Amino acid sequence: MEIAWIGTGIMGAPMALRLLRVGHRVRVFNRTPEKARALANDGAIVAADAAAAVAGAEVVFIMVSDTPDVEAVVTKAEPALKAGQLVIDMSTISPRAERALAARLKRLGVDYLDAPVSGGDVGAKEGTLTIMAGGEENAFERARPLFEHLGRRATYMGASGAGQMTKLANQIAVALALEAASEAIRFAQAGGLEPSRVLEAIGAGAAGSWQLANLGPKIIAGDYRPGFFIKLIRKDLRLVADAARESKVALPGLAMMASMFNSAAALGHDLDGTQAVAAVLDRLADVK
Ligand code: NAP
Repeated sequence: MEIAWIGTGIMGAPMALRLLRVGHRVRVFNRTPEKARALANDGAIVAADAAAAVAGAEVVFIMVSDTPDVEAVVTKAEPALKAGQLVIDMSTISPRAERALAARLKRLGVDYLDAPVSGGDVGAKEGTLTIMAGGEENAFERARPLFEHLGRRATYMGASGAGQMTKLANQIAVALALEAASEAIRFAQAGGLEPSRVLEAIGAGAAGSWQLANLGPKIIAGDYRPGFFIKLIRKDLRLVADAARESKVALPGLAMMASMFNSAAALGHDLDGTQAVAAVLDRLADVK
């Protein structure tokens, strides 16, 4: 298939690579061109801009950062889009904005899915992401064979925006599970326990979680290199807070986690991974 892939960062690059490896022709574009060029050795064709990437592609993937970025990409690509193409936004952005973009492209005869993912950089590399999609169901069925190379599970969630709403629910659970894992580890360490043995002991039981299994060892090692930037989870929790305000739902845990990640950013960790939230606990407990 002729595919366009826009946004080749931590998530987008390994996802595009998976499609190249199964034989699709993939044209890539990224704002910082070096990150797109890095895929040329694997057979990707590097496009000069978003419009050049999408021209003639059957399916267009977008995997950029935030709502204004997706809007900017669609605006630049729009003159080159033709009826019958399918655009799939896999970034995590505002559900309301997705509904507006879907309606805008529908007028051109272009199908649009919001299909954000969960599973981190590890899931992107291994093709084990969880994909949650919103849009028209026949567009989802069209995308399904491609989703099978990217994720372990792709679920159709309903009309446009439903994929993003599901992802935001996911982020509430992720943020609080990370806090739970961080507090358990620091508590164990402060109590004189060997933290990696604690992970072994409790990880397979009721306390087990993706956050504990994947980020727990990094917290113990003080390895704050990013899989998922603090700045991006701060963006996600802002999107959750906006949607919660619209639907008047109380999320006290979410409010606390927004503060924790803001503190992590204030301590200089915005470009570190989300596990750097443990550094806030260290500061609160005055750990040296
Ligand atoms: P990232 O490494 O910052 O990648 C984003 C990429 O999009 C960058 O390469 C950036 O280019 C490019 N970009 C941004 N705006 C653009 C524009 N207007 N035009 C063209 N390219 C543009 O972030 P990521 O971790 O891959 O995250 C991407 C999305 O996936 C985010 O919405 C994030 O919330 C979501 N997500 C991330 C994870 C994770 O674990 N990392 C998991 C699930 C979902 P530059 O190089 O110029 O900045």
